[in-house]
Amino acid sequence: MSAQIIDGKKVSEDIKQSLKADIAELKAKGVEPGLAVVLVGENAASKKYVGSKEKTCEALGIKSIGHKIPESTTQAELIELIDKLNNDPAVHGILVQLPLPKHLNEKEVMNRISVKKDVDGFGPDSLGNLVLDEPGFLPCTPYGCIKLLEAYDINPQGKHAVVVGRSVIVGKPIAMLLLRKHATVTICHSKTPDLKETCLKADILCAAVGRAEMIKGDWVKEGAAVIDIGINVKEDGKLVGDVEFATAKERAGYITPVPGGVGPMTIAMLMYNTVEAAKATLKK
Ligand code: NDP
Repeated sequence: MSAQIIDGKKVSEDIKQSLKADIAELKAKGVEPGLAVVLVGENAASKKYVGSKEKTCEALGIKSIGHKIPESTTQAELIELIDKLNNDPAVHGILVQLPLPKHLNEKEVMNRISVKKDVDGFGPDSLGNLVLDEPGFLPCTPYGCIKLLEAYDINPQGKHAVVVGRSVIVGKPIAMLLLRKHATVTICHSKTPDLKETCLKADILCAAVGRAEMIKGDWVKEGAAVIDIGINVKEDGKLVGDVEFATAKERAGYITPVPGGVGPMTIAMLMYNTVEAAKATLKK
């Protein structure tokens, strides 16, 4: 039997639609949600990502405050900009598009963003809150994966979840969020010896590796929910995930396609976090 396709486009649209009412309410109270987007240099992929974030802000009525600064920017200048944005009441969320040019210390920059404005959820305080089960911004892609499971009534409680990938921005936070939802979680990485056997035990299988179609259909347990975070461009230009979709969908119960699965959720959750940051200013 073929899996039910998890439609990330639809779920992300629903989230964005529901934000519109919140944004209207905030504006009625005199608060216009504002997202500062910092882009350093000319990286083509980064420019594209920033462009689509700005477009989504515009469509929802979130003020996008662009800071496109030259490649030659120094660490001190970038830190000064972050400090300025941290102190600007019109800015509720700060996003620094990664990767930064090599001469800049990415970690120091990310650490400088106020936890109240860290809508990407990448800073050490936000990640600490995640581990401590304290309130705080959740990283957008992992949060989006959880929202997809929720939208399809897939409850991780009591399930065995396997996450392939242990990066700080994707694999680890997904594992933490699944743990928070009471799954029993196994995290795999490049040194895991029996990857196929481990994947075969997964009721929920999350792939965040960055290797085109590495996870084959016969690695998937019958009826499992497969969340494919990978974004890979093949030699023929085709965009594929980390999971071999055609074979995996014949065994999975649910599966996210690439594109149209996790991808659209990331921007939706960024918008969600920005609106939450703006709402928080009313609670002061
Ligand atoms: P990283 O390169 O930071 O991490 C990849 C992880 O995969 C590492 O933990 C690595 O293990 C593991 N890995 C690599 N090769 C293997 C292997 N052969 N077997 C098992 N594990 C392996 O990538 P990211 O986490 O940043 O991104 C992962 C994917 O998700 C990428 O395709 C990226 O484009 C995509 N992505 C998608 C987003 C979206 O919006 N949909 C957002 C962010 C990322 P080790 O730690 O041992 O090196």
